[in-house]
Amino acid sequence: MRQTNTFKKSLWVFHLNTGSCNGCDIEIVATLTPRYDAERFGIKLVGTPRHADVLIATGPVTKEMADRAKRVYEQMPEPKYVMCVGSCGSTGGVFYDSYNTLGGIDKIIPVDVYVPGCPPRPEAIIHAFVKLWEKMDKKAEKSRPVKKRKQANKNKTVNKDKTVKRSKIVNKRSTILTKRITEQK
Ligand code: SF4
Repeated sequence: MRQTNTFKKSLWVFHLNTGSCNGCDIEIVATLTPRYDAERFGIKLVGTPRHADVLIATGPVTKEMADRAKRVYEQMPEPKYVMCVGSCGSTGGVFYDSYNTLGGIDKIIPVDVYVPGCPPRPEAIIHAFVKLWEKMDKKAEKSRPVKKRKQANKNKTVNKDKTVKRSKIVNKRSTILTKRITEQK
């Protein structure tokens, strides 16, 4: 798993069930409670979309929930992200083409990260948060002024050169040592 620089940022999440069977919701509860303890990474459940950075949506969108889901999304402050947990939220899942559902949540609001599975495990949900952090990293990188971006890339190259140089020295030393040991024998 790639290390991400935005790991230090806390994410406050709001959980919205748009018609799920509750299987996915139980996995989200397991993720946020002490067994998997996502709060140690700063992932915290909040009681209102007005305080949330991430909307976690579960289930297919029922016709009754479509307007409400849109309203909840509109209440979130920018920048906002949406995580879709479970196959139902992604495609409609087992409720696909059902008379009272519209399908996946992306038919109503934009989704940033999908967590497949029926239901997905808490590890998969935590992994999705890492993906979200990576996405934020890329977005932040793009919005940085060009001059600063160039400087950061230059620093990265210098550090890479130093590492290569160091590993060459280590290799050389180990070759000399091996040679000496062989000679002593
Ligand atoms: S993906 Fe599976 S567990 Fe989740 S809401 Fe759909 S049927 Fe239930």
